[in-house]
Amino acid sequence: MDIDAPALVELTGVNKHFGDLHVLRDINLTVRKGEVLVVVGPSGSGKSTLCRAINRLETIDEGAIRVDGKPLPAEGRGLARLRADVGMVFQSFNLFAHKTVLDNVTLGPRKVRRSSRKAADDEALALLRRVGVEDQARKMPAQLSGGQQQRVAIARALAMHPKVMLFDEPTSALDPEMVNEVLDAMVALAKEGMTMIVVTHEMGFARKAADRVVFMADGQIVEEADPDTFFTAPTSERAKDFLSKIL
Ligand code: ADP
Ligand code: MG
Repeated sequence: MDIDAPALVELTGVNKHFGDLHVLRDINLTVRKGEVLVVVGPSGSGKSTLCRAINRLETIDEGAIRVDGKPLPAEGRGLARLRADVGMVFQSFNLFAHKTVLDNVTLGPRKVRRSSRKAADDEALALLRRVGVEDQARKMPAQLSGGQQQRVAIARALAMHPKVMLFDEPTSALDPEMVNEVLDAMVALAKEGMTMIVVTHEMGFARKAADRVVFMADGQIVEEADPDTFFTAPTSERAKDFLSKIL
């Protein structure tokens, strides 16, 4: 990663409450073009809320979030463009259950990017090939394994030509034998230079692909380091305690 690369995602002084719960506290975070940022932290620390805020699935109370230099649009075509620019893969496989795999991938491009069916199909098949599920294109999501569905979800996000990809615990709902096929697709994406924000506790992925690890606790960024340093020599008590429980 180029340390002089331009900022692609910038959070400044971000605060968010759910009622009395202060879920994001003064978050300042810059992710540069081509950077792979891994976010770790205990359950309830605000990692998902952080991801959802970047995609404007959640509003924030204070501060600013910019993607590619632009403040997040509140609605309309700008918001649709943002959702295309910021691809998101969730823990649960949220494919459209009543659409084929191919239609899941082509729907967005045809609607938002106004691609022709032929162009959208060709690109979708190429993306499905890239993540190793091209032969599943005509099936319905329920006919696929969890690992295959998650790879389709990655292809679907990539079809929108995102500037950054957010992954929120993409392997935590998978049977163990399927974790690596999804992580491998993510590592390949990282190597191709995709800017990525990845919430995961998969240390192997962090070691292979991450430029930086951010540790969150109670809505705050408590620690920030390169993956080797973070996993072998965390400095805060919170991080040490957390790592002693997951490793
Ligand atoms: P993480 O992803 O790190 O587990 P989350 O961002 O999902 O954490 O949640 C942070 C905190 O905010 C948790 O205490 C959670 O219960 C709470 N929370 C998340 N979403 C909502 C919501 N829509 N309404 C109220 N509380 C929420
Ligand atoms: Mg979460």
